[in-house]
Amino acid sequence: MVGLTVAPSRDAALVRLAQFVPDAGGRYDVGRNTDAGPDHPSVVSGLSPYLRHRLITEREVIAQVLAVHDLDAAGKFVQEVLWRTYWKGWLEMRPSVWLRFLEERDRQRDAFPAGRAILKAEQGQTGIEGFDDWARELVETGYLHNHARMWFASIWIFTLRLPWTLGADFFLRHLLDADAASNTLSWRWVAGLQTAGKTYLATADNIARYTNGRFAPKGLAREALALTEAPFEAAQSLKEAPRHDPGQPSILLVTHDDMNPESAFDCAAGIRAIIVAADGDLLWGDGARRFVDLAAAETAARAGAHFGCGANLIERLDAQALMSAANAAGVKQIVTSFAPVGPVADALAELTPALAREGVALAQVRRDWDSAFWPHAKKGFFPFKERIPAVLRESGLI
Ligand SMILES: Cc1cc2nc3c(=O)[nH]c(=O)nc-3n(C[C@H](O)[C@H](O)[C@H](O)COP(=O)(O)OP(=O)(O)OC[C@H]3O[C@@H](n4cnc5c(N)ncnc54)[C@H](O)[C@@H]3O)c2cc1C
Repeated sequence: MVGLTVAPSRDAALVRLAQFVPDAGGRYDVGRNTDAGPDHPSVVSGLSPYLRHRLITEREVIAQVLAVHDLDAAGKFVQEVLWRTYWKGWLEMRPSVWLRFLEERDRQRDAFPAGRAILKAEQGQTGIEGFDDWARELVETGYLHNHARMWFASIWIFTLRLPWTLGADFFLRHLLDADAASNTLSWRWVAGLQTAGKTYLATADNIARYTNGRFAPKGLAREALALTEAPFEAAQSLKEAPRHDPGQPSILLVTHDDMNPESAFDCAAGIRAIIVAADGDLLWGDGARRFVDLAAAETAARAGAHFGCGANLIERLDAQALMSAANAAGVKQIVTSFAPVGPVADALAELTPALAREGVALAQVRRDWDSAFWPHAKKGFFPFKERIPAVLRESGLI
């Protein structure tokens, strides 16, 4: 059972990765679509809460896997990890897709006449075999297997005919790996909005086959007509990362979008103090809040030891807390890892001018990994996939 056994620390992530690496080749390839249930061992990695908060990075996961398997053998796993990178890059160039999701979710939440139907679906009381079990599993563990997420979203949209934004919101409120890009764009993909006209239809046969016969729900929709929506404006270019002076004395700000500053910032940079922000208002669910709270304490200790300076936790990511840290350390620059589209990015966008008025620059530094892959996420996953070997080669991983 992934959710209940996810210890929120980098050490736990590394242990899980080491256990998983031998299976990242053929075993993953053959078994990754099977969801044997929460009480049975699974061949998937269970690394998503760690990757979501970058307690471990995509780069190191792929590096460790490719140290043991060649790209042919571990291609499927590498590709799955890169789905995450792809979704992040795609949304970065289309922030209005996230904004429209939020608006539509709020509109549906206030106006949707079938509030009771939503409640029954979330509480696992629809009478649909499998679907009800996954709803409860999600709430209890904070995790669902990828295939179960696909089946669940498909049944929510096409059998129960509930608004997709409220299903995506249910996931955000309970997944430990809840993520603006992966969640929104996956729900859109099932609904036929992401790849226009291409939907995902869950069938009883497929569910029975890949749950080892645990479920064979009756009465599922037999067709999945793609949802439609008003067109979006054209994709925008990736924003230039703001300039910063790596030699200038700085505060290092760590947010829950990237809790591995040791691999993002140079030890020789002038980091005078570290602030780790565990702001529950920037997360959607209590499970993720608990995970981040514990991971933040561990990250503060780890980063403090690595950079050889004091590390403090703050509960609210606000200008006052950052200004008093900057004043206490006598610095005029705060550096932090780039925050992708989502609540942390929104908070930083508000803070930046407020800090600038006080003479303190806030610089978000994008990781080389994101800078290398995101420019290829302009269109569909297929052209992105074609670029994977070349970018891995340029990154020194193959
Ligand atoms: C409707 C729906 C909603 C989803 N919501 C989220 C979400 O909020 N957060 C999230 O991290 N993933 C989401 N996913 C993607 C995927 O289901 C999870 O990342 C995966 O199940 C995590 O389990 P794992 O770590 O054992 O995956 P593994 O199969 O071991 O994969 C390794 C890593 O690759 C990445 N990955 C794998 N598959 C995908 C995928 N299809 N899309 C993006 N990244 C992937 C994850 O970081 C994962 O940890 C969603 C998928 C669907 C269909």
